[in-house]
Amino acid sequence: MTIPIYEPLLGEEELRNVTEAVKSTWISSKGKFITQFEEEFAKRMGTKYAVATSNGTVSLHLALAALGIGGREEVIVPTLTFIACANTVRYTGAKPVFVDSSKEYWCIDPQKIGKCITKRTRAIMPVHLYGHPCDMDLIMEIAQKHHLFVVEDAAEAHGAKYKGKTVGSFGDISSFSFYGNKILSSGEGGMCITDDETLYQKMRILRDHGMNPSKRYWYDVIGYNYRMTNMQAAIGVAQLHRMDSVIRRKREIARLYEEKLSKLADNGYITLSPQMEWANSVYWMYNILLSGKAKVCKDSLMERLWAKGIETRPIFYPLHTMPPYKQSRRYLVAEKISASGVSLPSGPTLTDEQIEKVCNAIIKEVV
Ligand SMILES: *Cc1c(COP(=O)(O)O)cnc(C)c1O
Repeated sequence: MTIPIYEPLLGEEELRNVTEAVKSTWISSKGKFITQFEEEFAKRMGTKYAVATSNGTVSLHLALAALGIGGREEVIVPTLTFIACANTVRYTGAKPVFVDSSKEYWCIDPQKIGKCITKRTRAIMPVHLYGHPCDMDLIMEIAQKHHLFVVEDAAEAHGAKYKGKTVGSFGDISSFSFYGNKILSSGEGGMCITDDETLYQKMRILRDHGMNPSKRYWYDVIGYNYRMTNMQAAIGVAQLHRMDSVIRRKREIARLYEEKLSKLADNGYITLSPQMEWANSVYWMYNILLSGKAKVCKDSLMERLWAKGIETRPIFYPLHTMPPYKQSRRYLVAEKISASGVSLPSGPTLTDEQIEKVCNAIIKEVV
């Protein structure tokens, strides 16, 4: 039996809701669960409005499109993140400008944003990487000073807090994902949240082909079909109801990894997942970085764990190293994290025994 990297926690309510959606025949993008999911999600995040989408990639694109970003403009994006961050900037015609990571907590380094700002820069896209918040005070300060929009990518950080405030509540628009391995899942799915009514209305129109809300089949602008189905929302609503217990378990899993791997960390073999004193991470993926002292490199550790039935994955490759975004410029912090980082099994269904098995296997290979 293998230990999977991430399994969603699904239960009776998910089954009941999705059955109700099917029985009601409202299986497409109209239906009560969509409104319920949007309203309850906005409330849970402490924002006024939410717009559900078919996934977390289109929700990022929808946010950028609603802000009118495009043409020859630029958006600041961390290089250490999921590819969708750069791709969605490209979809608008704008250019992603990469920034290196913080050595301490791996998210975009606010100290390095300033020198990347040009007169074309329109927005910053901070990504709360692996569930750890970005330093939002510094980012908001830079954004205000240079009149830039902030689009938070909170795809990996539902419920994480920065200085006690939920991530996703800082930016002009924030985007979430409900992919199968995210903190909450609706199969595929995404959500944009905002406090701005104009942006909210724009996103609703762009999500639905650009259709005029008061004149059906009349299109004032070019939009998209980015709608969520009622079946996805049915599962999303149930997932939202178990969000607190999922996050509690995620933090427990992190504590267990820390406890069992602390000796390795103290002896300099590995670095554990960060948590700054101002942060309340939700540990989407629990990661370790291998030091030069470790007996194995990242790739062979992953191979050897897999041979024991333990699934892991590499930390993201920096975007500036990928063919579509290839640059000769170096981003040394991100490169180092990526070259040495492994994500361990992290789903809320993991048992204490499975975590122990993973840790014992790591200790055996690394020392
Ligand atoms: C998962 C993810 C996305 C995209 O979400 P999908 O729902 O898979 O399209 C965007 N950004 C980050 C940082 C992610 O981890």
